[in-house]
Amino acid sequence: MRKVDYLVIGAGIAGMSAAARLARHGSVVVCEAEDAPGVHASGRSAAFAHFDMDAPLVRALTAASIPLLEEPAAKRHPALFIALEGQEGAFDRVEAGYRKWQPGVRRLSADEARDLVPVLRAGEGGIIGALLDDKGRKLDAHAMLEGHRHSLIAAGSEVATRASVSALRHDGSHWIADTAGQSYAAKVIVNAAGAWVDEIAGLAGVAPIGIRPLRRTVITFDVPADLDVSPWPFTKTVGPGFYIEPEGRGRLLACPMDEHYSEPCDAQPEEEDVALAAWRVEEATTLTITRLASKWAGLRSFAPDRLPVCGFDPAATGFFWLAGQGGFGLQTSPAMALAAEALAISAQWPEELSGVGVTREMLARERLIPTRG
Ligand SMILES: Cc1cc2nc3c(=O)[nH]c(=O)nc-3n(C[C@H](O)[C@H](O)[C@H](O)COP(=O)(O)OP(=O)(O)OC[C@H]3O[C@@H](n4cnc5c(N)ncnc54)[C@H](O)[C@@H]3O)c2cc1C
Repeated sequence: MRKVDYLVIGAGIAGMSAAARLARHGSVVVCEAEDAPGVHASGRSAAFAHFDMDAPLVRALTAASIPLLEEPAAKRHPALFIALEGQEGAFDRVEAGYRKWQPGVRRLSADEARDLVPVLRAGEGGIIGALLDDKGRKLDAHAMLEGHRHSLIAAGSEVATRASVSALRHDGSHWIADTAGQSYAAKVIVNAAGAWVDEIAGLAGVAPIGIRPLRRTVITFDVPADLDVSPWPFTKTVGPGFYIEPEGRGRLLACPMDEHYSEPCDAQPEEEDVALAAWRVEEATTLTITRLASKWAGLRSFAPDRLPVCGFDPAATGFFWLAGQGGFGLQTSPAMALAAEALAISAQWPEELSGVGVTREMLARERLIPTRG
């Protein structure tokens, strides 16, 4: 039996970013079922930070995170929100979401938008205008995870891979967690298992939060050799549609913004979603996708109110939730890690969070009823 102060379950961005902070206050082991960090949602994301998020809380967490997202984990890259014919009304929603945090965004005409992304189609069903955020951030999930792993190791803590937590019990003072090779005794368990958080709660006899893993699909494909797409903005429709994002000089990533309920699993792309991604891009642009370079799917996990959950369970001593990172887990991870640190060690609420109006109650598990005693 190995004693640690904090046992973090899950080496995705949530678990790794919180663990790196907690390692300043005590010994931490991150148990990860896979053979490396970031195998699930965190390694399958489009990895872009912007403010076109529905929930004000997510925008506030993003605003708190952006100053903490530094190179090489984050690089300035523009984002373009395009309205296709019929999506006029959605502009106001996106602009209103931006106004508070980044008033510098500007509206572009269809022609100005096509100067930036020349393949956008004009005319029937095509682009009618756009909103440009020239302060977006292209994130590098691998660099983010590696940065946290290095901080963790430098502080004397560690990540245990191929260490699926298979049993959890409380012995009156500690949580006892079993993995195949090692058992741990920890005062605090941080449940950062992404799509699996309710399974972890089940092992511990703790009431679930009702997490909903939703599958999302990505394709990548090469563009004609005479196009250099690297300066193109991350380009997203303001309503239902798709987004595209450059992957170097000659390749684009595309996503149809699909959401399909899935059990927690190693998500795989369904052919119809792959076809939908290609079709939506071809409809709105002059591109023809003849061959895919790659395709994948990942699970975005949402709490019932689609807001993140961070804090101790009210009915289970030492059981800490870090869950529901949805489609914003990378871009909000610096702020969420600060929140997790403050709540787990009972420190003062960070100014970075109070400054943007985020309170601990907004993130608390208690807001999701019912809880079981
Ligand atoms: C296609 C797609 C596009 C996205 N685009 C963006 C974007 O542009 N910007 C953004 O900010 N976010 C984006 N996201 C969302 C982001 O990827 C997630 O919010 C984030 O990665 C969630 O991190 P996590 O650590 O909670 O989960 P995960 O990365 O899934 O990590 C959970 C970990 O827990 C481990 N685990 C589970 N059970 C156990 C167990 N019993 N024992 C040990 N370990 C266990 C798993 O193996 C996994 O590694 C996107 C997601 C997808 C799928």
